[in-house]
Amino acid sequence: VRRSLPRAVLFDRDGTLCVDVPYNGDPDRLVLVPGAAAAVEQLHAAGIRTAVISNQSGVGRGLVTRRQVDAVNRRLRELIGRVGPILVCPHRSDDGCSCRKPMPGLVLEAAAALSMDPAECVVIGDIGADLGAAAAAGARAVLVPTEMTRDEEIAEAYRVAAVAPDLTTAVALVLSGSLPALDSRAAAA
Ligand SMILES: [Mg+2]
Ligand SMILES: [Zn+2]
Repeated sequence: VRRSLPRAVLFDRDGTLCVDVPYNGDPDRLVLVPGAAAAVEQLHAAGIRTAVISNQSGVGRGLVTRRQVDAVNRRLRELIGRVGPILVCPHRSDDGCSCRKPMPGLVLEAAAALSMDPAECVVIGDIGADLGAAAAAGARAVLVPTEMTRDEEIAEAYRVAAVAPDLTTAVALVLSGSLPALDSRAAAA
């Protein structure tokens, strides 16, 4: 069982670890999702490392500055003590970068920062782009839908990954060692 545990969990930020406040540049507006700090702590207690991978196109669009995003991320780190590296894609969707999810760049970067293979990582996120990035990088994934998540994204997650009703359950699923393998062909279809 131990063998099938991932070595790292890569969390989406907005809508997954914290309440989604679009283009938030204000650390005082950062509110954790219930159970987020405990979920991260549980993983570390089990020897599983963590990282945060976040699309922040508001930087590229001039809606927030990189300094503001960094300040919000520092607050996240204050609220979730031991979380690992926090990686950001600052680009706009039409920039054609390789890091904006569902492109694989942030997953690959996080795995490299943690000195492991993407196949040893699980991505936990709230939308299809999180699943897509995981699939493109060869990682597994769990979707934790919010009211913003589209029905077809949830259906896709049931098909190619896993779905959990909240973060606590998602982490319990990871720790159970029973996460299904990600079928990247299905995800690409
Ligand atoms: Mg999100
Ligand atoms: Zn990017």
